[in-house]
Amino acid sequence: MPPTERLYNLETHRIEFDAHVVDTSERVSGWMAVTEDRTAFYPTGGGHLGDTGTLNGARAAECIDEGQSVLHVVQGLAPNIGAPIKGRVDWPRRLDHIQQHTGQHILSQALVTLFNAPTRSFRMLDRLCEIDVDLSEPTTDRIERAVELANNVIWEDRPIAIRQVTAAEAAALPLRKDSAREVEVRLIEIEGFDLTPCGGTHARHTGEVGMIAVRSWERAKGLTRIEFVAGRRALEDYRRANKTALSVAGLFSAGRDDAPLLAARAIEENKELHRRVRGLEEIAARVAAEELSIGAATLPGGIRLIARSLAGRDAESLKQLAHALTGRPGTIALLGSHDQETARLVFARSADAPGDMNALMRAACALLDGRGGGKPEMAQGGGHKVEMLDEAIAAAAASVSATGV
Ligand SMILES: [Zn+2]
Repeated sequence: MPPTERLYNLETHRIEFDAHVVDTSERVSGWMAVTEDRTAFYPTGGGHLGDTGTLNGARAAECIDEGQSVLHVVQGLAPNIGAPIKGRVDWPRRLDHIQQHTGQHILSQALVTLFNAPTRSFRMLDRLCEIDVDLSEPTTDRIERAVELANNVIWEDRPIAIRQVTAAEAAALPLRKDSAREVEVRLIEIEGFDLTPCGGTHARHTGEVGMIAVRSWERAKGLTRIEFVAGRRALEDYRRANKTALSVAGLFSAGRDDAPLLAARAIEENKELHRRVRGLEEIAARVAAEELSIGAATLPGGIRLIARSLAGRDAESLKQLAHALTGRPGTIALLGSHDQETARLVFARSADAPGDMNALMRAACALLDGRGGGKPEMAQGGGHKVEMLDEAIAAAAASVSATGV
């Protein structure tokens, strides 16, 4: 089978073409793959997404490079071998690829020009692109300087030429990167700025790229990974970013660019409120402790025992209350609380009161079918047998009384 003539090599902006089918084969997906004698479709490869389009009106959803030939996966009725083809490439998708890919040439050369930082790899993803750059000491300021230069080159609308040269001729030229080709080399020349071997699809003038914007960067495997968007993607990314910024600003009833300051202020205020709430909770716990102390049982030896189940308290609040109660000498507090699924317990005693809260807690948690423990002065735990909570507290209180504390 003769190799497929690749029309995009010299005519990147050609989207319609006539051809003949030279081969068909069935894919694992069940769709047919069609090979023609010539095509304008760019196949996926080399970090470059492939084209989609139509062949005789049927959807060509994927284009695959098979070395010598180019395969078009047709979703629909595939033409027979020998049949004439009218092919059409989806232009918005091709333009997007031209903008991203040519944008990468320009940004990569800008990084070389300013910082002598070569690009090691490039990936065109669905929404954005990535380059891994050997850039020492990366900073946002350095990267933005490269973006600035790249956009100036775009707005100067420099011509971009395709040159076919021999490998020997290429070796004598100041190329941005070496060519892997051994016979004929396709060079892409951005006038007065960049000369590099490449088989991808490119703009005719730099202005067609529109603009380049860097979304973010990070250190990755000893290189600097830069996430960027070019052309229409930059506009779409701006729209998303603007929508996000406006929705955040709306929360503060503020102008878009005032939102970061107001958000930072709100976070500070929130922290301050948390501090104040903690202070108030301590006061509330002391007041609640006063009330509970009034109803305390007095054991022989003058030890006061508070054994209670209290509604609506979380573990932290129970601990705070136990702490306030046992701040007084001669006090044992056996406190519990629950929600629909979980019963919680905190057992504590003052330093001068007797008893092993850890042992009491383990026994109580066994009744709740849960777990818990701690130290002789303080222990906490819980379980899912909520209905056993009062019984567990009463058993612990009975144990304290029975040991003659
Ligand atoms: Zn290229």
